[in-house]
Amino acid sequence: MTEMIENKHVVGSRQLADVVVVGAGLSGIYQLYRLLKDGLNVVAFEAASGVGGVWFWNSYPGARVDSHFPHYQYWFSKALWDDADWSERFPAQPEIARYFNHVVDKFDLRRHIHFETRVVSAVFDEASGLWTVRTNKGHEVQARFVVFNTGGLSEPKVPEIAGRDNFAGQTFHTSRWPSAGVDLAGKRVGVVGTAATGIQLIQAIAPVVGHLTVFQRTPNYAIAIQNPKLTEADLDAMRSSFDELHAQVHSSRGGLYYPGDTPPMFDDLPAEERERHLEAIWTEGNLRLWAHSFADTGINPAAAACVSAFVRSKIRARIKDPLLAAKLVPEDYYFGTRRVPLENGFYELFARDNVALVDLREEPFQTMDAAGVNTTKRHHDLDVIIYATGFDAGVGALGQIDIRGNAKRSLKDAWEESLRTTVGMQVHGFPNLFMTMAPFAPAAAICNVPVCIDQQCDWIADTINFVRRKGHQSIQPSAATEEAWMAHHREVSEPTLLAQNKNSWYRRIAADGTRRELIAYMGGIPRYRQVCDAMRDSDYEGFELT
Ligand code: NAP
Repeated sequence: MTEMIENKHVVGSRQLADVVVVGAGLSGIYQLYRLLKDGLNVVAFEAASGVGGVWFWNSYPGARVDSHFPHYQYWFSKALWDDADWSERFPAQPEIARYFNHVVDKFDLRRHIHFETRVVSAVFDEASGLWTVRTNKGHEVQARFVVFNTGGLSEPKVPEIAGRDNFAGQTFHTSRWPSAGVDLAGKRVGVVGTAATGIQLIQAIAPVVGHLTVFQRTPNYAIAIQNPKLTEADLDAMRSSFDELHAQVHSSRGGLYYPGDTPPMFDDLPAEERERHLEAIWTEGNLRLWAHSFADTGINPAAAACVSAFVRSKIRARIKDPLLAAKLVPEDYYFGTRRVPLENGFYELFARDNVALVDLREEPFQTMDAAGVNTTKRHHDLDVIIYATGFDAGVGALGQIDIRGNAKRSLKDAWEESLRTTVGMQVHGFPNLFMTMAPFAPAAAICNVPVCIDQQCDWIADTINFVRRKGHQSIQPSAATEEAWMAHHREVSEPTLLAQNKNSWYRRIAADGTRRELIAYMGGIPRYRQVCDAMRDSDYEGFELT
């Protein structure tokens, strides 16, 4: 029988709780809300001094969301929708950070969160079926369940360049941007990385800095954003379409709803129609070209080649210098097989006198010294280096915590041997441990996150409630259930063109460097939800309950 544990009941230096929630970002906030609403005793920890996760940390200049209005917000409360007061179609980081603070205050969640507190370990005890969670501030909480809402893109990656520590100037990673900002005016700044983050940053700082050196390794196919200010009429329309949109996004493949058909590219479609369709989508200035253009661009190389040629022509038309175009236009992979960024004047800014592009494929980094960085061709003098170099995706944040399940086996070791999850939310051998945005779920990569995490947090809460209601001590997927999920993931995901591009964070390099594992589940939200719901509706057939 499950014993009831009182919330924050202090026994010496120890606390007792039903659930420990780790992280107060996008998913942690909703997870906490939902579990408290269900009447559970929850203790939450957050390493940052505020809420918002990526939207707390990534306060670099130019940061804004790439999911168009009104999709990037919580879906669990119509009242929250009615409050929402977005100013732009693609809101910027400060506005999104304000939104999360509003959510936390509206639902009185803040008092449940220990801020500036990092969870350092979580250890499962098989005899009692309890987790002991410890923090860097000396907390020790025993709980039946632990939920890691630590985000898929939270652990920054910095390139290994010989002599990196010798640099005497300032160094930043975009995802650890100082909240007070950084004065870049007039300085010689180098930015490493030209993907979704780098593009936003570069656009924002080019007019401010003295000189900007952009270090690019792989060029990207970016779509020109259309980001109008929103009107009261837009907000009214948003509020009155909640139910309809809720249904539409939750049955979409990736959590964004686009009206209109997606015909197969070549069946009965004359070339002019194809071009018209592409052109109409392009002018929308959002991610639709990636998510909802033709039915087969993600699987049919000929269709992908056609869209790629279309986007290349759009980019080329904006770059006057052919040598520059040769560096900035991607030629060796298909559009949509890496995360597609949105941009606003990115391609034009390389014509500015104060901006230089360094193609790292022609001149790789060699060493760093006090005054800057050496590529194989020359020395680049810099006052500031900004790394927009991405994250240890999918598993990075969990890898920082000493998590031990059955027989005190470490999750990190288990995943280094073989990265696997069951529907991205549980792992065999780690009873009562749950996670969101982990590998092999849509939320891991290919999803408008608020939609995906809302379903994940609900499934986790439903599962916890089931275990408690039935008087069980623990739940974990059987090894066979996990293998079946992994086999399904590989079957639906690996044949896609996205899976075949090895050069993206959707495929993470295994710790031993031998494998690249596709963490993105490509079966789409409806199929994923069907599997998760079937697990729940069968009273967790294929799971081990004690
Ligand atoms: P990323 O997509 O992983 O891109 C990292 C960039 O750094 C790439 O240009 C990469 O080059 C470069 N890089 C990495 N290691 C390097 C090295 N050793 N030497 C030289 N260059 C190196 O990271 P990100 O741009 O931060 O984006 C990550 C994800 O965050 C996005 O895909 C998106 O899901 C999310 N995001 C969302 C938004 C939004 O919604 N608006 C904004 C920003 C980010 P290669 O391509 O050659 O590896």
